[in-house]
Amino acid sequence: MLPQVIIIGRPNVGKSTLFNRLVGKKLALVDDQPGVTRDRRFGEAHLLGLDFTIVDTAGWEDDDPSSLPGRMRAQTEAALVGASVALFVIDSRAGLTPLDEEIARWLRVSPVPVICVANKAEGKAGDGGLFEAFSLGFGDPVALSAEHGQGLADLFEALLPHLDAKQRERDEAEPEEEVDELSGPLKLAIVGRPNAGKSTLINRFLGEDRLLTGPEAGITRDSIAVDWAWTDPKTSEERQVRLIDTAGMRKKARVVDKLEKMSVADARHAVDFAEVVVLLLDATLGLEHQDLKIASMVLEEGRALIIAINKWDVAEGPSGLFNGISAALADGLSQVKGVPLLSVSARTGKGLDELLRVAFEIRETWSRRVPTAALNRWFDDALAANPPPAPGGKRIKMRYITQIKNRPPSFVVFGTRLELIPASYERYLVNSIRRELGFEAVPIRLTMRSSK
Ligand code: GDP
Ligand code: GDP
Repeated sequence: MLPQVIIIGRPNVGKSTLFNRLVGKKLALVDDQPGVTRDRRFGEAHLLGLDFTIVDTAGWEDDDPSSLPGRMRAQTEAALVGASVALFVIDSRAGLTPLDEEIARWLRVSPVPVICVANKAEGKAGDGGLFEAFSLGFGDPVALSAEHGQGLADLFEALLPHLDAKQRERDEAEPEEEVDELSGPLKLAIVGRPNAGKSTLINRFLGEDRLLTGPEAGITRDSIAVDWAWTDPKTSEERQVRLIDTAGMRKKARVVDKLEKMSVADARHAVDFAEVVVLLLDATLGLEHQDLKIASMVLEEGRALIIAINKWDVAEGPSGLFNGISAALADGLSQVKGVPLLSVSARTGKGLDELLRVAFEIRETWSRRVPTAALNRWFDDALAANPPPAPGGKRIKMRYITQIKNRPPSFVVFGTRLELIPASYERYLVNSIRRELGFEAVPIRLTMRSSK
């Protein structure tokens, strides 16, 4: 059961617009609950990582306006039952009306906490109404433009304290992973310089013992995907893999016959459609500048990266080579520490099952969502251990963090004066997220959102 947030306000202040904004076009409306009158709409709302049921009371408004206040009062009281918080919407352009004042009086005696939302606040025209809204006694009003999607971060901040406890219960009752994102085939791209062994590796993957269900052209006109089933010899589990467009595959599929140079641009194209990207190095050549360029691009695009040193069967001084490459990666790929580094041989098949095992694992990490409550517990600890600096004596206030998406894991911090946060402090937070929340080897995005 999601917590309920109810939207209340006189006609025409923008309640339906706010409802639609929070529910989003793609999400189906939740059906009216049994026994509940028709004049309420229920929807599943998502706001920057918060999930709740949003209830719109707009339907009260159709009938005779003379009896409106009385019916609204009865309906408001009915609707408030079971709500965690009410959004009392006013039109900041129109300013407060007598009906707004009357609704405010009912809400003041209700046990449900109220957030006043001053809607239509885009531009300057709403400043007067926003000021008036302070006088209602519901604390700081949230200035919002439901139509233009402005002020949603402030609304999130205002809602969080009311929904946090409920969200926490729910988070703890639910598994962390989004199962359907992991049940589809692993979308894997193999990139690397010419002659690194991409074709050989793909031929090995798609050998006779593999179930070849492609090639399928379909992702885009000029890209190719091949589906096959890999059986993990350790667990005997069969797992689906989709190899995405690489120069090597195009050779195999005879779509492009000429020898292609694996440029950064080619890799970029493959990466667009992949979840996990394997960068193949040539053990006889070591790590070169071009490899680092491709690796950085993969991480900048937010994909999970694995680096595999190929031709291990002919590697000279393998342990020194491995350590050398590992150190060069630590220097050259500072964005992500701990990108998996494996040794393989496309020719002999050594290390290939391990490569796929790691690829499935890293996809899981890349797809993970951290519950808001756990995230904020980490956040409090991280700030306590190393408080944000106060540049020029100005205190930076960091209030909350939320994971707005996965694949790649992306986080937003809310607070004030966050534009003053130095890059070194952001790095501290990112590294701490990695270490403490188990995102070691995947790219992470962290953005700061200041509110007034
Ligand atoms: P409701 O009767 O409270 O549900 O209000 P509606 O959502 O139907 O909106 C009433 C009118 O206000 C519509 O014409 C909307 O386009 C407009 N409106 C809603 N939100 C905003 C906003 O943020 N800014 C402006 N300028 N107009 C808005
Ligand atoms: P691509 O350009 O990346 O597709 O590379 P190819 O698959 O065409 O391989 C380039 C050369 O490296 C070929 O001569 C392969 O036989 C050789 N090669 C590929 N993988 C291995 C390997 O694991 N060990 C050895 N010794 N040679 C390999």
